[in-house]
Order: sequence, then C-alpha cells, then structure tokens
Amino acid sequence: MASPRSYFTHFFSATATLAHGLSLTWRQLWKSRKSNPHFNIRESNYFEQTDGIATVTYPHVQIPVPDVGRYQLHNEMDDCIVCDKCAQVCPVDCIEIEPVKSPEEFGRTSDGTPKRIYAATFNIDMGKCCFCGLCTTVCPTECLTMTKEYDFSTFDIRHHNIPFATLTQPEIEARKDAWARHETEKAASKTVVGPSRPAAAKPQVKPRPMIPPANPPHDE
Ligand code: SF4
Ligand code: SF4
Repeated sequence: MASPRSYFTHFFSATATLAHGLSLTWRQLWKSRKSNPHFNIRESNYFEQTDGIATVTYPHVQIPVPDVGRYQLHNEMDDCIVCDKCAQVCPVDCIEIEPVKSPEEFGRTSDGTPKRIYAATFNIDMGKCCFCGLCTTVCPTECLTMTKEYDFSTFDIRHHNIPFATLTQPEIEARKDAWARHETEKAASKTVVGPSRPAAAKPQVKPRPMIPPANPPHDE
C-alpha cells in the first residue's frame, strides 16, 4: 500500500501534467480563433504559417500542394502519338492502350510530331497507380502529366480507371477497316500481275570430242 507521502507526490505530478497539457490545448485553441488563408508551401517558414490553425475547412480551404507533386495523371490526347512507351515503362501495368494504325499521317501534335496511330483505348487505372511518375518522364511529346488533383475519391474503385481515348465505337471500326483495306492492297500489290514468262531454255551442252592419249600404249 502506498504511503501518504507517495500518494500526494503522484497526485501533484498528475495535476501538473494535466495542467501543462491543457495549457497547450488552450493556447492552440486561442490562436486558432483566426485562420491564415494565405499559405504558400514554397516559403521557408511554411510550417510556422500554419501555427494557430486547428484545422482547415476542407474543401472550402485547401492547403496548397507543391508544383512538383505527383497526383492524378492527365493525358492530352491531341498530343499523344500512341507510342506505348508509357505503358511499357509502367511498373504496375496500369496503363492500357489499344492502338489502331493509320495508312497515312493524319495530324501533328503541338510540337510538330507526326501522328500515325489512333488510340481505340487509352485507360489509366489510378486505383493501381503507385505515382512513380515514370510514364511522364518517357513520354516523347510530354502530353502525359501529373496534375495537382489529389482528391479523386470515389465510392466505386472501378471509377479510378480513367478513359482518355476520344474516338467513338463507329470511328474506331472505320479506322480499323481502313487499316485492314490498306494491308490487303499492300499484300495484293506484291503478287506478280500479267502473263507468266516462259521458262528459260537450258543451254545446250555440246559433247566434248574424244582426244586420243598422247603416248598410246605399245602392244607387246
Ligand atoms: S505514375 Fe508510375 S505507376 Fe502510375 S501510371 Fe505512371 S508509370 Fe504507372
Ligand atoms: S508515352 Fe506519351 S505519346 Fe506515348 S503513348 Fe504514352 S502518353 Fe502517348
């Protein structure tokens, strides 16, 4: 059983600890009576600026995100040449592309790169994405970028599979047909057209004359 001296020692210690904790809480609460909406994460004293903030009234007030942050991906399809590099480099295979070749160049990206492949499908599953950013670094036309959008919560995880392709199903079918026709015509042009030439006559080989030996053997 604790002695009366030990009892009072513990009592005063617990009271002092409680008072210290409550003083911190009240001090923070007093500071948070006014909020500072002008956060700038690039300023060196960013974390001091948040002093006094109990919380922010999200989504009406949002803490800014850094410019180099990695958040939701966006593909500017007008500039995409459907080269498949992003899908090949993705470590978690969350980019799905179905290309449809075109018989001829059908446009140019904003940096002048010729476009010869349509995207029947271009999906990025942000539910699988690990936000490594590799796909954006290999993109030759820089059409694939990471935006500042970080709030894309949804009730159904399938909604994180974001489609970027813009072609309608009839347009996809028409382009597939055009490519199939092109391939057929190319194959046909390779076959020989016109009457077949007669087989070349074999050269006549004349029999060689018999040459008598220089020193015929003598009869004995
Ligand atoms: S950020 Fe990484 S994981 Fe996400 S799609 Fe790009 S390569 Fe794949
Ligand atoms: S790397 Fe860029 S240009 Fe190539 S398919 Fe991906 S998004 Fe399109």
